[in-house]
Amino acid sequence: MAERVIPIVDQRAAVLAPDSLALAGLPAASGTLLDTRGRPLRDLRISVTDRCNFRCSYCMPKEVFDKHYRYLPHGDLLSFEEITRLARLFLAHGVRKIRLTGGEPLLRKDLERLVAQLSALRTVEGRAPDLTLTTNGSLLARKARALKDAGLSRVTVSLDSLQDEVFRRMNDMDFPVGEVLAGIEAARAAGLAHIKVNMVVKRGTNDHEILPMARHFRGTGITLRFIEYMDVGATNGWRMDEVLPSAQVIERLQAELPLVPLAATSPGETARRWGYAGPDGRHDPALGEVGVISSVTQAFCGDCNRARLSMEGRLYLCLFATQGWDLRSLLRGGAGDAQVEAALAGIWGQRSDRYSELRASLPADTGGAARRIEMSYIGG
Ligand code: SF4
Repeated sequence: MAERVIPIVDQRAAVLAPDSLALAGLPAASGTLLDTRGRPLRDLRISVTDRCNFRCSYCMPKEVFDKHYRYLPHGDLLSFEEITRLARLFLAHGVRKIRLTGGEPLLRKDLERLVAQLSALRTVEGRAPDLTLTTNGSLLARKARALKDAGLSRVTVSLDSLQDEVFRRMNDMDFPVGEVLAGIEAARAAGLAHIKVNMVVKRGTNDHEILPMARHFRGTGITLRFIEYMDVGATNGWRMDEVLPSAQVIERLQAELPLVPLAATSPGETARRWGYAGPDGRHDPALGEVGVISSVTQAFCGDCNRARLSMEGRLYLCLFATQGWDLRSLLRGGAGDAQVEAALAGIWGQRSDRYSELRASLPADTGGAARRIEMSYIGG
């Protein structure tokens, strides 16, 4: 069998050097930056590490991410100060929400120090950014209090099954589900609001867990979201027949737990919201809500307002991007704030990405699957 080599360092970054930038004509930060499809930049996802302590087959399969895998050396990662500086400049362009991801972000040492720095920043409206974090939950019980004290507002926990045996198999590290549930409880006890649980549904693997998961979190104040299994990266061997469309997830839920559709809370929201109905057939807020993220069957590129920053400072404009923009060389090359702001404006201003809308029409060999960036590199 041919050896499969997955480069840890994405070499396909467009190089940006301060003196190579054509700054003339690029707008100074005004709080609103539109791409070629009129989509504003609002949401910044920052990956802080390429490491994870799980080996979920759809994200970091063990056959690829084994003991020979070479992770980035620490000096290649953006420092907390570099991340904070970039975040400040993104906020000046209109970003309101910052999500920390990985890999597993809680593996980055002293992450609460970064959280404190980011929570001290302000949006153009003068408010603290909506600062959240996506985690596998394995270290949350230990870290929740410190993260909350540092200024984290919310947390999203990835959890694909409540059955210990299934969960251990899916994370492929024999990690018990009880510790993740304890982490969720710790987050709640620490006062982190709007806790969300993300479940990637893979037909034939964990779709029998849809109802047990819903029953478990209904009425707890925690929002469960079902995510269609996606063709992210090049290593997960994605197949369309393993995708369970969100419409079928809702049907299965409705058979036992009546739901009513809810309005979106903000433009660009990835999840469609459904509220649990009470005996009168109307949404009962005490029972809470679920969300479905139909990334495969119902593309939401039309109002996608997300940019992704990798741990080594590459900026990606789409989860399915095949090339990033090297902001680190700009920072370490001595660029001033105005130059970095202009670069961000130039990069976002030429964005036209809409992979999910095009997926079905792309011939199999032109979707760029072999060249796509791994989710563990830019976060989900
Ligand atoms: S495919 Fe790309 S552009 Fe479309 S919603 Fe996902 S990240 Fe946004």
